[in-house]
Amino acid sequence: MAEQAVSPMMQQYFEIKKQHPNEILFYRVGDFYEMFYDDALTASRELELTLTGKNCGKEERAPMCGVPFHSYETYVARLIAKGYKVAICEQMEDPALAKGLVKRDIIRVVTPGTVIESSMLAEDKNNYLCSIYCKRRRGHWRAGICFADISTGEARATELNAEKIGGAIITELCRYMPSEILICPPMLDFKDVTGYIKQHTSALVELREEACYKDALLESTMAGQFGPEWRTTLGYDEDALVPYAVAALLNYLQETQKHGLERIKTVDNYADAQYMRLSPVTRANLELTETMRGREKRGTLLWVLDKTETSMGKRLLRSWIEQPLVDAEAINARLSAVQALYTANIARADLKEALSHVFDIERLTTRILYGSATPREVKALGDTCARLPEVKTQASACGAPLLTQLADQIDPLDDLLQKITTALVDDPPATLKDGGAIRAGYNSEVDELRDIMHGGKGYLANLETKLREETGIPKLKIGFNKVFGYYIEVSRSYTDSVPDSFTRKQTLTTGERYITPELKELENKILGANERLLVLEHQLFADLLSEISAQIVRIQRTALAVAQLDVLAGFAEVALQNNYVLPVVDQSGVIEIKEGRHPVIEQMLKGTLFVPNDTLLDEGENRMLLITGPNMAGKSTYMRQNALIALMAQIGCFVPAASAHIGVVDAIFTRVGASDDLAAGQSTFMVEMTEVAEILRHASKNSLVILDEIGRGTSTFDGMSIARAVVEYICDNIGCKTLFATHYHELTSMDQDIYGVKNYNIAVKKRGEDITFLRRIVAGPADDSYGIEVAKLAGLPSSVTKRAHAVLRQLEASAPGRNQTMQLDFETVEAYNNPSVPSEVVDKLHSVDIETLTPLEALNFLYELKNVLDKD
Ligand code: ADP
Repeated sequence: MAEQAVSPMMQQYFEIKKQHPNEILFYRVGDFYEMFYDDALTASRELELTLTGKNCGKEERAPMCGVPFHSYETYVARLIAKGYKVAICEQMEDPALAKGLVKRDIIRVVTPGTVIESSMLAEDKNNYLCSIYCKRRRGHWRAGICFADISTGEARATELNAEKIGGAIITELCRYMPSEILICPPMLDFKDVTGYIKQHTSALVELREEACYKDALLESTMAGQFGPEWRTTLGYDEDALVPYAVAALLNYLQETQKHGLERIKTVDNYADAQYMRLSPVTRANLELTETMRGREKRGTLLWVLDKTETSMGKRLLRSWIEQPLVDAEAINARLSAVQALYTANIARADLKEALSHVFDIERLTTRILYGSATPREVKALGDTCARLPEVKTQASACGAPLLTQLADQIDPLDDLLQKITTALVDDPPATLKDGGAIRAGYNSEVDELRDIMHGGKGYLANLETKLREETGIPKLKIGFNKVFGYYIEVSRSYTDSVPDSFTRKQTLTTGERYITPELKELENKILGANERLLVLEHQLFADLLSEISAQIVRIQRTALAVAQLDVLAGFAEVALQNNYVLPVVDQSGVIEIKEGRHPVIEQMLKGTLFVPNDTLLDEGENRMLLITGPNMAGKSTYMRQNALIALMAQIGCFVPAASAHIGVVDAIFTRVGASDDLAAGQSTFMVEMTEVAEILRHASKNSLVILDEIGRGTSTFDGMSIARAVVEYICDNIGCKTLFATHYHELTSMDQDIYGVKNYNIAVKKRGEDITFLRRIVAGPADDSYGIEVAKLAGLPSSVTKRAHAVLRQLEASAPGRNQTMQLDFETVEAYNNPSVPSEVVDKLHSVDIETLTPLEALNFLYELKNVLDKD
């Protein structure tokens, strides 16, 4: 019997599963979502669920596991995070009313890029779905790329036309870090892009078929979404590739979400040239939004600057940091707004107070549109509307043009506030399940039904009194249970007094329970009212949601303005708290910083004060600062602080300095030690050289370049030669502003030969064999590398450091003095690189420590040397 009852359901399961072979199918059965076969095996493994079996009409039971429907979100979130997609199959009718098998259907496919539930999203981060379309025309590849966050309705797109299209795509990807990427078939051949995605992101890649990019589909999708005049409205000519990417993205949403596409109202077309170029390596090195080690927010620029009050502000701040501006006018508009908020202490405090009560209306609107918002959430939208006038007033009180403009964009949405306040009670329930969300007076039928219910309860009390009087049973009670509804309960000692009109329903040890026709009639009325009331409340709430949805464009515009105000007010706050100043930003090409500090390290230092330093970089004789100094002196801190100060200024933020003049930079490049590419099997030297090559190819005159110890991964002379050649190339061919740290003292003579190079070093004080770092940058080359002293500081045993000093003395006796900077001219280097004995052999001989070699190792070493000679 049981087997027959189960089989048709499994048949239905197989039908549905056939359409979703690549997703894990969450199949609703009563209060559970069940998974079967391979899905069950995968889910039980990934979610640590108990694997059981289900009779399915076949001999073997189907492997099965399940999760309760009310907590399914957390399970789906975990699967999504592990890179799976989940198809949700619902019961489409009430099982209690269904005739035969309950109808079921897929209501949604949840994928990493299409999540809208707040429980599955990080509040301070956008969640982007990306779509890339590329095409070759006249022998040249071009691409259209689009990023959409369906939880907020944001959609941005750009056309890429770079010579190296793969690199351009990667630059965009690391600007937005999408969680899912739709690609067209030709993209499979872009190994640099696919390799990058695999290695550096956890994004899910979806290959879309060629058919998704057909012209007819493009036309119908775009016209359906944006109207028949979409090309004009969105500004695309016939040649544009972006529309194909957008249409593929919309179709994918349609396929997976079934509804909710209305959230995307427009596409914001941006030009790459609008933002400062930051390579993936640079973003990582500067630790803008996550640390290199641990990938955490603490210890990043984002962490220092985040003084926002709202989730919308947090997300916007992150995207501002990821996309600094290059237009001095736009930057100064932000800076003047921050300046106004910085000065207006009271207005800023009031603005921040009002903002602290503003909910994430951007994402709330999406859930309202999808119909999944709860009464409490809608009330939160109402509460937010109530704060908007204050936000508007305080923002315009400060006076800066940008603030006034943002205040104007805030729509106080008082009609929505009015609507929500009249429709919902002050403190609505978390769900609509038990009703109680609609305010009295909003709908006359609701009031009437509630009257019946409450009146009904009054009737019950009346009936109870009447029956007590009629029967003379003092303790007669009317009660209710789920099995047979309302009943009359009489204790054992009075059962004899019960009249015949009572029908006995249940016997208890303490007494008996009865019903009467009169009680049943009352019951129908009360229960009917309750059921009807629930249906009606659902209906009214759904109507309210769709009325709000109709105002989506107004809400979205307001949310955007609020987010910007929040970030700007946060910048003013952080400037005050951390003692930042307003930078002068222009197109002068000069970077002049007085007493600059590293924004993150100064916050992390405990017990010591950060030592500020000056910087002067220009387009003339101060183009390249060559910085020497022992390890740990503070070279990389100094170089990064300059990059971070320029970047902060260009996002519109005050900077950690006594004063700063920043000529806008179009890109920042960094080449800094340890890179995580080592794991990918590349040698340190290869990684280093690839990064240097990238910089030389892409840096322009207006870029800021940071080079930390290049040429370290190879032999000294090779390294030094490469370093010098790079410096020459940068000064002669690019002319970008460069900070170059090196421990090759030999290079410090370059300031004599190459125009634009200036020597600096980070001062240390030496007392006996101990040194103290002064952290001060001073003009001129370092006099010593203090390697042994630093090693001592690091805790190397004194016997070792003593021996090192002795060895050094010996070396100094036979070679040019350590303190007279080794005067090595580059002809000697040339000669060294082409001697009769190959340099590799010389290097190997230099590096070997004969005293520690075993005889066998010595033999092997000889063998190795001979091999090198033979090879040559
Ligand atoms: P280098 O690149 O020369 O090896 P770092 O820049 O890594 O040295 O600096 C080493 C440490 O010194 C930093 O982690 C920081 O704690 C400290 N430091 C660097 N610069 C300063 C400064 N200006 N003021 C205070 N401490 C600093």
